[in-house]
Amino acid sequence: MAEKLPPVRVRFAPSPTGRTHLGSGRTALYNYLLARQTGGQFILRIEDTDQKRYVPEAEQELIESLRWLGLQWDEGPDVGGPYGPYRQSERKEIYLEYAKQLIARDKAYYCFCTPERLARLREQQIQNKQPTMYDGLCRRLTPEDALRRIKQGEPYVIRFKTPKEGLITVRDYLRGEITVENRTIDDYILVKSDGWAVYHLAAMVDDQLMRITHVLRSSEWLSTFPLHAHIIRAFGWQEPVFVHLSVFLKPSGKGKMSKRDSAQLLQDGYSIYIKDLEQLGYLPEAVVNWIALMGWSYDDKTEFFTMQDLIEKFSLDHLNPSPAAINFTKFDHFNGLHIRHLSVEDLARRIKPFLVRAGFEVDDQKLLQITPVIQERLVTLDDAVELAGFFFREHLEYEPTLLIGKDMTAAQSLKALQESYQLLSGLDFNDKEHLEAALRSLAEQMGIKAGQLFGILRIAVTGKSVSPPLIESMIILGKEKVMEWLQTAIKRLATLVQANA
Ligand code: GLU
Repeated sequence: MAEKLPPVRVRFAPSPTGRTHLGSGRTALYNYLLARQTGGQFILRIEDTDQKRYVPEAEQELIESLRWLGLQWDEGPDVGGPYGPYRQSERKEIYLEYAKQLIARDKAYYCFCTPERLARLREQQIQNKQPTMYDGLCRRLTPEDALRRIKQGEPYVIRFKTPKEGLITVRDYLRGEITVENRTIDDYILVKSDGWAVYHLAAMVDDQLMRITHVLRSSEWLSTFPLHAHIIRAFGWQEPVFVHLSVFLKPSGKGKMSKRDSAQLLQDGYSIYIKDLEQLGYLPEAVVNWIALMGWSYDDKTEFFTMQDLIEKFSLDHLNPSPAAINFTKFDHFNGLHIRHLSVEDLARRIKPFLVRAGFEVDDQKLLQITPVIQERLVTLDDAVELAGFFFREHLEYEPTLLIGKDMTAAQSLKALQESYQLLSGLDFNDKEHLEAALRSLAEQMGIKAGQLFGILRIAVTGKSVSPPLIESMIILGKEKVMEWLQTAIKRLATLVQANA
């Protein structure tokens, strides 16, 4: 077991450009776990400098998704903190300031190349089968020339002056040292012509100013990681520990999830978006448990983890850099486990909105009685609608032929219903054992199996061939309703028998 870390400062730094998916959820979770485990701080930083891609609703969804998962941040745009503002669009001047520092240190330069020139350059490079990179034309301008052109009002960007010789070695916590040749690294734009810094500069500056000790981020940033190290080193700053997390693959394990894949998933009752999972009836506890294990494991056998367990047991040393296929069958399994882990009161409280959404008027006392009889059978909270809806109905609709018992005729089944009615009308509905014994002995007297009789009664009092346990359901429904529904069933089956006579 690796030593516990001193308090870390970690950040989750999403760009609000789209919906919040499992990948972001997992990045946020790992950061959160590390902060809580070490008694450090978890920071939410909104990376919204790309004005073109900014989607206002995305931020709201992001905040709701994180809160739903239970990942509360210690510093962030809404809660403030000593290193704010935590929204990059409010830090424009800071980045400009640092970009100028790089220019002063001869680590960056103004570039006046027009989009047209860059497009031509690119085309030529493609034709010549060369890597498409900036050719360094403006790198050679003297500072005086550059300032003169700025004064004349020429539009410009600021580019990083990547060393063109030698190697750079960076260190990823999971992959070890990675060495690349500097000449393969472009002179990336740090500040665009509209004055906004791009991620490469803004995030490095913020990580430094916000005293971030560990950067846990998506491995899509591995390719520009050497550039990031160059920027940090150009300032003479200490590098945080970089941990690039594994990528998620689609359930088949072949490739990354596309938009089309997620549309198909939703039809199957699944989604990669956190907010959808809430709507589909998954518990945040199950999502957390499931995503925690996509790229991390404790001992290869323990699978049930609460947030508290994860805070105690999480370790960077057990992260796995290999891609992980999203496995929804596992997810259902985890949801079931966590549903069974809840107290009856808690589960009832969470089921209620799903029943209400389905149009049922829900009586809380009754729901508390129902919950324990369906708890074992739920995969999602939404399953309660199908499983327990009948408890809240005034009338049951079902195909009358369903009332015909297995291997029985309609007339025999009708007789079984009539006898049951007789028997039950004289019984007290409080004693489960007694009710069950009486129905079993009725089946015996009639020369049929208890299963055959229960099958008929199940349709009559629940409307379904699969339901929570029959006797418990009858007790919860109450004698009055059961007798009424048996009466209805008798009428329906009698009509059928007559029609067939
Ligand atoms: N804004 C970047 C993104 O959403 C953050 C990457 C990082 O964590 O540094 O991909």
